[in-house]
Amino acid sequence: MSFNSEVKEELCKIDNKKECCMKAEGYGLLLFSKMLVPSEKSVKYENRSVARTIAEYAASCAGVIADVRTSLRKDARETHVLVIRGEQQKETLCARFGHSVKDANIRINKDNIKNECCKGAFLRGAFIASGSIADPMKEYLMEFIVPYARLAEDLFSFITDLEFAPICSITKRNGINVIYIKDGNSVENLLTFMSARTSSMNIMQTRMYKEAKNNINRLSNFETANIDRTLSASAVQTAAIAMLSDSGMLKELSPQLRQIADLRLENPEMTLGEMSRITGISRSGVKHRMDRLIRLSGEAGR
Ligand SMILES: [Zn+2]
Repeated sequence: MSFNSEVKEELCKIDNKKECCMKAEGYGLLLFSKMLVPSEKSVKYENRSVARTIAEYAASCAGVIADVRTSLRKDARETHVLVIRGEQQKETLCARFGHSVKDANIRINKDNIKNECCKGAFLRGAFIASGSIADPMKEYLMEFIVPYARLAEDLFSFITDLEFAPICSITKRNGINVIYIKDGNSVENLLTFMSARTSSMNIMQTRMYKEAKNNINRLSNFETANIDRTLSASAVQTAAIAMLSDSGMLKELSPQLRQIADLRLENPEMTLGEMSRITGISRSGVKHRMDRLIRLSGEAGR
């Protein structure tokens, strides 16, 4: 089962202890599944628990029966289609949450999320109906896909206004409004806020694992950096000598400097100690000449 499905399964099983929270979750579910939009005759879901939960809340919040029709697609996956029978039932459902079937602009009616305790339940409903979450081993990403611009803006404000201030963005992808959260800490806090304790714990453990792995990588990078340093010093010297050669300055230099320059060009990986042994010049003498070559190349480059 994908991480997204695991999270949805966990969320669908949560019971609301208070009547107000039950209504708020039902509102989130029905509003973000487009069931309160008059022109939407049916809604399709691949996840059976999601379709069933929405139908259950339509019944428990407003006494409206939504049929769930299951069919098998060509690729053997199940599709669950939610349908509300008749205009009258749709009107009853809309009226229960203070919406009108004539509403042109569908937005969040805050009267349905009156108490602080209801906010988590409402967001849980919205996420079950329109959200998805990526596997935290790959990336931290929670998304809400909302087909209506004003509704998307309302949900964006609702999330950013939460007390723990999740880092959240809103964009359009192929003309569809997407609200997304990419910050690991915010994703974890939002799951906790929706009462998905197991999923939130899983994210936390993944984050700790990734952090430990990064620390180990940083240590081994430090060791390879020391080897890189020898090579990059040689690369700087070779580049300097090449520049002197290109500008014609190399052939005018003293034989002592030219000797070191030639040796470096022929042996890019040779250490200064080795160059000292071959030439019979002290290591500091070799270093001094090399530094002089680099300084002169600076003048040649001007
Ligand atoms: Zn409540």
